[in-house]
Amino acid sequence: MATSSGTTALQAAVESLELNPGDKVFTTPFTFMATVSVLLACGLVPVFVDIDPNTFNIDPGKLYQAIKNYPETRAIIVVHLYGLPAAMETIMEMAVENRLKVIEDCAQAHGARIGNKLVGTFGQLATFSFYGTKNIATGEGGMVVTGDDTMAEKIRMLINHGQRRRYYHEILGHNFRMSNVHAAIGIEQLKKLVSFTEKRRANARYLSSHISNPMVVLPKENVGYYHVYHQYTVRIKNDRENFLRHLTGNGVGFGVHYPLCIPDQEVCKKKPVIDTGISSAREAAREVVSLPVHPGLAEDDLVKIVQAVNNYRG
Ligand SMILES: *Cc1c(COP(=O)(O)O)cnc(C)c1O
Repeated sequence: MATSSGTTALQAAVESLELNPGDKVFTTPFTFMATVSVLLACGLVPVFVDIDPNTFNIDPGKLYQAIKNYPETRAIIVVHLYGLPAAMETIMEMAVENRLKVIEDCAQAHGARIGNKLVGTFGQLATFSFYGTKNIATGEGGMVVTGDDTMAEKIRMLINHGQRRRYYHEILGHNFRMSNVHAAIGIEQLKKLVSFTEKRRANARYLSSHISNPMVVLPKENVGYYHVYHQYTVRIKNDRENFLRHLTGNGVGFGVHYPLCIPDQEVCKKKPVIDTGISSAREAAREVVSLPVHPGLAEDDLVKIVQAVNNYRG
């Protein structure tokens, strides 16, 4: 079901679960705000579970503990951050055992997979974004995917004024539709996804095999995990600001995804949220830097990035 954005896709997915205001939903503290703002908008209470520092994704061991402490929690939004799949086998086992509904936020992970199983096919629902910076783009756009026909029907209604038949409104819905103009762009973009992804992975391989600065911790890709490198994110263990100045001085672009964890955002101080301990997420927020990895990079660009990073002396 195509939508007007990744955020509206998430909102429709969350609404389709028909949770009650005040219900708890597990999620990660280290993501883009939209993952959590839809929960707040629906009156739900995010329960933040810390990340695994090696993957930047929700830590299954911490989730296990959080389920014990908050057994009444109804659902989980898992994010495949930077294009690396979260530990879905373990997470789904726990989810099934505890009757948690699972939404996968695949906004950064188009085509990522564990073995041959694509992200977006593990949970009941999954959402994608086609915003301009994502691995494929329609300008603004998104999608909800599900393997369940009943859920699909409900999503179609939620994104189109709550109607199944035109002008007969059965539930409270929205206009979250994707326009046909955006859809036309998306159809063409989809044809390029495989080549874009291969280019991103080749760029990441180049960076990982040529960056050799002990002050720069490289991203990891576990065996069997197919990372689609929406971001190529390194850690700078001390004084990230100095490293960023060095990159700027050498004409290398960068991003910081993200400088502040979700529970530490101003908006969360005004809302009921539960923090189960997020020290790894806070550490990541202090240390991460995303280097260019997009498919438009030329060989010269890669050489320049590697040189700048390797020349950094702290
Ligand atoms: C981009 C993004 C979204 C929101 O998508 P939009 O299309 O910008 O609304 C949600 N979650 C994550 C993890 C994202 O990266």
